[in-house]
Amino acid sequence: MSEKSPHLLLINPSNVLASMAKASGSRWNRFRAWKPLSIMAVAGLTPPEWSVQLIDETLGIPDYDEFERPDLVGMTAFTSQANRAYELAAYFRSRGIPVVMGGIHATMCVDEASSRVDSVVTREAEGVWEQVLTDVLAGRLQRRYDGGLAEIDEIRPARHDLLPPDYAFGAIQTTRGCQLNCNFCSVPIFNGSKYRQRPAADIVKEFRSIPENRVLIVDDNFVGTGAAQIRRAKELFRALADANTGKRWIGQVTVNFGDDEELMTLAKRSGCIGCFVGFESPTSEGLAEINKKFNVLKDRDLRASVRRIQAHGIMVVGSFMIGLDVDTPGIGDRIAAAADWYGVDNMNVLFYTPLPGTRLWDQMKGQHRIAMDSFPSDWQYYTLTYPVARHQTMSLSEIIAEMITCNGTYYSLRNIFWRMITGLIQGRSPFYGVIANFSSRRNSIAFARRYAKFEELEGWRFSRSGGTSGPRDNRGLLSDLAR
Ligand code: SF4
Repeated sequence: MSEKSPHLLLINPSNVLASMAKASGSRWNRFRAWKPLSIMAVAGLTPPEWSVQLIDETLGIPDYDEFERPDLVGMTAFTSQANRAYELAAYFRSRGIPVVMGGIHATMCVDEASSRVDSVVTREAEGVWEQVLTDVLAGRLQRRYDGGLAEIDEIRPARHDLLPPDYAFGAIQTTRGCQLNCNFCSVPIFNGSKYRQRPAADIVKEFRSIPENRVLIVDDNFVGTGAAQIRRAKELFRALADANTGKRWIGQVTVNFGDDEELMTLAKRSGCIGCFVGFESPTSEGLAEINKKFNVLKDRDLRASVRRIQAHGIMVVGSFMIGLDVDTPGIGDRIAAAADWYGVDNMNVLFYTPLPGTRLWDQMKGQHRIAMDSFPSDWQYYTLTYPVARHQTMSLSEIIAEMITCNGTYYSLRNIFWRMITGLIQGRSPFYGVIANFSSRRNSIAFARRYAKFEELEGWRFSRSGGTSGPRDNRGLLSDLAR
């Protein structure tokens, strides 16, 4: 170990297949490069005697040979970043530098991660991070630390000052956990099904420390669904409005956000400019399949819900998935039509993806339907923007065609034009709508090209006979796809 302050290098690994989010690639994509809150949060847990350096590879991959030699490298990774995290781990370990990995993927695939890094932190880091640092300095780093679920007062403010000013949005987390238990979602497994809400005063203080003027609230279910949860959301919005931070924010909410006029009024006053709503499927059969019947409880009129939110000058981005078992040919058109009918300002369509640790993973694995299964390299495809599992009835070509049709219809120039006009007539600023629509259009066109390549290279793995030839090095194919 060095004699000066111990040095911690925290890295958010890149994913070559998601590289279109690279901020430098396009001025639109600056709005899609999300600031990596997880490493900022770990930095916030690190005692001041450590010097801390943060690297977000989304902004570009640095030359690590030129860096000050760290005493510890820490990484957190979503599943799609796991492969790159392991590459980095191999590089640093070959130089004798210990590597610790945490986050959702390491938690869900402990054995895999453990065989590639020196130590794994499972679940939330708050309860164990200082112990990890103490142990590494004492030369007794353990193979595994289980943080469990943090008490709400253990959550400390993230370090918002350690990354370059290259992001359109800062990031903050105000709640953890979700009680809704959708079958494809890892949140209730990783963060628990108990909804934990940080005190409003802590959030206001942290909000002020964010250098960006726009903020993404990363909570998976920001306002909650129960009466007490909604009360707390209102309390937070009042506190943010009173603090007059001047910041604008966007967050992920369930559709019940549109049920409460006072909630939306306070949200707007506190700086809300937009929200992501997970509609997931345009059919009640689809919602039943994924266990999200909540969306249509009490015969909810989704179009009216969207309109009520927009009436407060808040933009709505609707999220959907293609590839549910109940989906049949024409689903792409049906989703585009539903997004249009609900009147959302922008749409985000993803492939229905079995992420490790979820109930969907167990189900599809049990049915031998996971096509992209040469791990860890295939984790790079688990971006939700590539099909990774065989559909019950549709072929890979058909599923991809549905995605292309859906995006092609929704993001036609004519439809974007009418959405902008409608938004203006309804009194919403066109600024974010234009950015979101043109950025999504650009990326959907680029992905349509990638899908042709993907099918050519990987289509054989989706054949009905199933099965793959076992682990192999597909880095050449991946860089082909990334072009
Ligand atoms: S509502 Fe959202 S966060 Fe909660 S389980 Fe469903 S997808 Fe996950």
